[in-house]
Amino acid sequence: MATQDSIPRRAVYPGSFDPITNGHVDIIERIQALYDELIVLVANSPDKKYMFSAHERADLIRGALGDLKNVTVDIHDGLTVEYARKHQAPVVVRGLRAVADFEYEMAMANMNKHLNPDVETMIVFADPKYGYVSSRLIKSVSIYTNDLAELVPENVREAIKQKRQNS
Ligand code: ADP
Repeated sequence: MATQDSIPRRAVYPGSFDPITNGHVDIIERIQALYDELIVLVANSPDKKYMFSAHERADLIRGALGDLKNVTVDIHDGLTVEYARKHQAPVVVRGLRAVADFEYEMAMANMNKHLNPDVETMIVFADPKYGYVSSRLIKSVSIYTNDLAELVPENVREAIKQKRQNS
């Protein structure tokens, strides 16, 4: 871990988090213990359509995580490796649920390596109990049910309910 004259060991966990699920929370809780600081980075891509705004997604993450002192949440609309370079965070964390995630994550990791060879991608396997949980599926089923208690944090369940009522 960091000593007084060394740079803190910092990692970035980027994603859409639209919204954060218990699968994401599990990865964050496991990974934060390995670093001095973990930055959960909410991607805000202008060409993507989100259910929640970037600020809503960031607030939902903060609300879901509670008091994890070495986890911060930030919003970024550019390249993750650029953010990582600026914030001296040489590790990018991504989660892998199933083989279906593999090709995309490998291509992304290789692209990031090409863009910035100093940044390493660390792949963390999802807990099997969250292996089928994705923000996309949560949004799809939430049209019909709010019975999502074991899949998303309570504040997210409430926020989805509000969104559905207002739409
Ligand atoms: P993106 O649009 O960048 O894929 P997501 O919010 O969908 O953003 O996912 C962010 C990261 O979290 C990705 O690496 C994804 O594979 C991982 N992830 C998504 N759902 C889960 C889950 N249930 N368990 C573990 N990792 C997950």
